[in-house]
Amino acid sequence: MQHKITILLLEHVNHNVVRLRTDKPTNYRFTPGQATELSIDKNHLKEEKRPFTFTSLPEDDTLEFTIKIYPSHNGVTEQIEQLKVGDKLLIGEAWGAINYQGEGTFIAGGAGITPFIAILKQLNVKGNLNNNQLFYANKQEKDIIYKNNLEAWLGDHLHLTLSKDNLENYHYGHIDADYLRSHNFETSRPVYLCGPPAMEKAITADLIKLGVPEQLIIKEA
Ligand SMILES: Cc1cc2nc3c(=O)[nH]c(=O)nc-3n(C[C@H](O)[C@H](O)[C@H](O)COP(=O)(O)OP(=O)(O)OC[C@H]3O[C@@H](n4cnc5c(N)ncnc54)[C@H](O)[C@@H]3O)c2cc1C
Repeated sequence: MQHKITILLLEHVNHNVVRLRTDKPTNYRFTPGQATELSIDKNHLKEEKRPFTFTSLPEDDTLEFTIKIYPSHNGVTEQIEQLKVGDKLLIGEAWGAINYQGEGTFIAGGAGITPFIAILKQLNVKGNLNNNQLFYANKQEKDIIYKNNLEAWLGDHLHLTLSKDNLENYHYGHIDADYLRSHNFETSRPVYLCGPPAMEKAITADLIKLGVPEQLIIKEA
């Protein structure tokens, strides 16, 4: 079923990522980590559906999406950046394999943080963040989104990696088996993984090498 929603807020959270807040259809349900197909409710764009993850909580009165803009694609995200308060979007039902299955390790790259924003936000509200760890990779410091929230939620359990900027207080390079091993990485807990396809592929191979059972690696198929 398709739902029409209205933009209530559109703002940049960094140089190339926007946060969209919209109203919420009555009885609309999702679990933190899930996504939906979203399109712009204008002429031919209605059919151009792209998946985006909810960064709000199921109990919130509004929906929120956090969307990285790719002007070079000449695609939907470029159009999303141009939208205004009052413009309409279309969404389908919620779907997705990423959901919280217990304390573990979160590994994200770039906009791949979005499912974990919803999950960590909910754990924070419930006081259940406990010993969850997050490894979050970006190219540059300016690419990191929701850094203040992540620091407040996770403290010493937040590990930031940059592959382009070589700065103090950041790990420089890529997240790999050696880096995880040097951070008390536990192979018997769930690993939540979301990032660009190449990153997911490389890290999945590293996780298998480290001895993480495949059924403990939670990611979109
Ligand atoms: C389950 C799921 C959840 C997601 N959640 C989020 C989220 O919460 N936030 C978020 O920001 N993203 C999320 N994404 C990714 C998001 O769906 C894509 O970034 C988005 O679809 C890009 O749409 P687009 O129309 O701008 O570009 P695309 O549909 O990727 O591309 C349009 C055209 O651009 C060209 N193109 C594609 N790639 C390149 C390239 N690398 N260089 C040059 N040209 C290219 C191709 O011709 C393509 O047809 C999610 C993806 C999945 C699968």
